[in-house]
Amino acid sequence: MAKQDYYEILGISKSASKAEIKKAYRKMAIKYHPDKNPDDKDAEEKFKLAAEAYEVLSDDNKKARYDQYGHAAFEGGHGGFGGGGMNMDDIFSQFGDIFGGAFGGGFGGFGGGGHRQARVKGSNLRIRVKLTLEDIAKGVEKKVKVRRKVQAEGVTYKTCSTCNGSGQQMRVTNTILGRMQTATTCSTCHGAGEMLDKKPSGADAQGMIVKEETVSINIPEGVTEGVQLKVGGKGNEAPGKNSIPGDLLVLIEEIPHENLKREGSNIHYDLYINFSEAVLGVSKEVETVTGKVKIKIEPGTQSGKILRLKGKGLPSIERYGHGDFLIHINVWTPQELTKDQRKFFEEMQEDENFSPNPQKSDKSFFEKVKDMFS
Ligand SMILES: [Zn+2]
Repeated sequence: MAKQDYYEILGISKSASKAEIKKAYRKMAIKYHPDKNPDDKDAEEKFKLAAEAYEVLSDDNKKARYDQYGHAAFEGGHGGFGGGGMNMDDIFSQFGDIFGGAFGGGFGGFGGGGHRQARVKGSNLRIRVKLTLEDIAKGVEKKVKVRRKVQAEGVTYKTCSTCNGSGQQMRVTNTILGRMQTATTCSTCHGAGEMLDKKPSGADAQGMIVKEETVSINIPEGVTEGVQLKVGGKGNEAPGKNSIPGDLLVLIEEIPHENLKREGSNIHYDLYINFSEAVLGVSKEVETVTGKVKIKIEPGTQSGKILRLKGKGLPSIERYGHGDFLIHINVWTPQELTKDQRKFFEEMQEDENFSPNPQKSDKSFFEKVKDMFS
C-alpha cells in the first residue's frame, strides 16, 4: 500500500511555514486524540500518522530529505522510522513541545483504559554549535553552557487530590445505551496526577528555577550544517515527581574553512604551483583535514588537473567510508618579468614545445567535473 504524503496527512501545502505545520498538527492531535476517540482504531491510526508527519516536517533536516526523496528518505534505517511508525510514548513525549509542556498541557496519557500513568515531559531546549571542518572530520566533544529550568532544591509535590493521581476524572453520563463512564483529563492537575506541595523561596509557582549547567555533547564525525542532534534529558525539567525532562536539541553549524571547500563528504582544495614547478615537476605537502599528505606533481602537469586522494575527505554519515580530497592544480602565471625572462618567453613564443597540444587523455575540465559527480 502506498504511504500517504505527509503534507496530505496534515492537510497543508508544501510551502506551509513552521507555524502552520505546528498548528495543523495540533488540530489533528486534538481531533484524533485517543481520549476523544476511545476504541476507535481508525482515529488511532490517524493520530499516529499525524505525529509521524509532524516529526518529519517540523525538523528542517528531515523535512529537506523528505522533500527531496519522499518516504524513501527514511527507509533502510537511515535515521528514520524504518516504516514502523511512532509508538504512543514517542508521540506523547513530543507533546511537551506542541502544547507547552509542564502542567499547562492538558495532555499526558491515554484515557479509556486508564492503565497508563500520565508522564509530563519538560520542554526541549535548542542551541547552536559551530564546528570546524577538522571537528567534523574527527568528531568532537563540545561543552556548552545551557540555562535549564529545573526543580528547585527542596520542592515537594503531592498527589493530586481531585483525581487521586490518575490524571483523569471519570464522568458518568446517562445515554440511550445506559450509564456510560467516560474519562476526561483532570481539571486540577491537567493530567499530571500531581500538584505542588512546598516550594522554597525563589522558585516559581510550579517550584522551578533556572540554572546554568555545562553539558557535554558528543558530536559524531561527518555531521553536516543543519543536522540536529538530540541530547536526551538535558532540556527543561517539568514539575512533579513523575515528570521527565525534555531534550537538548543541538543544531550544527559549519564554520567556513579558509582554504578548503566541502561538497558532501568530498573536500576541494586549490593548490597553486609556479610555472617552473608545472614544467619540471615537484613534491608538495598538502594539509588535509586529518593531517599533512605528501603529493607528487609530475613534470609537464597542466593547469586544471585534479588529483584525487581517495578516502582523505570526510566520513560519510549516510554511506560507509570516507569521501575524497580533491586537489585542483592551478599554475600561477608570472605577472612581472625581468628583461632576461621576457626575452626567454619571447623566444619561446614560436617554440614547438610551448604550443598547446592537448592529447585525448588530457580530459577537459568539464569532463573531469562530470566524472567526479557521476
Ligand atoms: Zn488531578
